[in-house]
Amino acid sequence: MRAVTAAVILLLLPTPVLAWGLAAHAMITRDAVERTPPALRDFLRASRSLLVDRTLEPDTVLRERLGPREAGRHYLNLEVLSTPPFTDIPADERAARARYGPSRMRRAGCAPWATEQVYRGLVAAMRERNRARILEQAGHLAHYVQDAHSPLHSTVNYDGRRTGNDGIHALYESKMIQRRAKFFRDLGPDPPVPEQRQTQIAARILNYLREGHRALRTLFDADRKARDIGKPGSAAYLDALFRQQGSAARDQMRDAARETAAFWTGAWIEAGRPRL
Ligand SMILES: [Zn+2]
Repeated sequence: MRAVTAAVILLLLPTPVLAWGLAAHAMITRDAVERTPPALRDFLRASRSLLVDRTLEPDTVLRERLGPREAGRHYLNLEVLSTPPFTDIPADERAARARYGPSRMRRAGCAPWATEQVYRGLVAAMRERNRARILEQAGHLAHYVQDAHSPLHSTVNYDGRRTGNDGIHALYESKMIQRRAKFFRDLGPDPPVPEQRQTQIAARILNYLREGHRALRTLFDADRKARDIGKPGSAAYLDALFRQQGSAARDQMRDAARETAAFWTGAWIEAGRPRL
C-alpha cells in the first residue's frame, strides 16, 4: 500500500524538484554506456535497461526510503560554506567536517562525498564480480555524477525563488529537455573514455559544482527573458529558454555522460579489470 501511494504521489506531482528530470538521467546513462571501453561496454549494454532503472533510483526509491538523508546527496549548496569562487572549500570530507561542523554541513548537502562513497562501493562490487551489485552501484554513481553537472545543484537558490525565477528547476532540467528530447538524446560523438584509473573523485565533483555555479546568472537571465515571451512552462516560454540555454544544457549533459563513463571505467580498472 505504501509503495503504491508513493508511486501515485510521484505521478501526481507536477515535476518533482529533484534533479535532472528522469528523462535526462536516462538519456545521459544510455549515452555513457557507449563511451566505455569495449570490455566493459558489452556488459553494460547487455543490462542497459536495468542500469537506467538503477540510475533513477536515488530520485525515487531512495528518496522514499531515506527522505532528507537522501536529499543532501544530490547537491552541495556552495553559499552555505563559502563565497565565490568557493576555492577554499576542502575536497577532503574530514577536513570539510572539521571546518564547518555538523549543522552547516547538513544544510550544505554532501554531493562530492556521497559520490566518492558510491564510487568505492562500485569498486568493491567489481572486485566481487557481483553483477547485481555492480549495476546498482554503477546506476547510483551515474545519478550523483549527473546531478553535479547541473548548475542548480550548486546553490541554495536551486529553484530560483530568491531571484524571481520560481520553478526554474523543473523548467530547465525536465520540461525544456522533454520538449526537445530529440536534440538532447544525441549528445554528440562517442569516443571511448581513456582506460585509466580515476583519482580525487570528491574534488572533481566539487569542481563541476563550482563551474555550474558560475553559469547560474546566465541561466536566470535567460529564464527572465523567456518569461517576457511566454508563461513559464508554455511552448513559447520553453522554446525561448531552449534558444538561449539548450546548447549549454546539452554540453552539461555530454560532460556528465563522459564523466559517468570515466568513473565506471576507473572503478573497473581499480578492481583489476574483472571479466564481467
Ligand atoms: Zn538527483
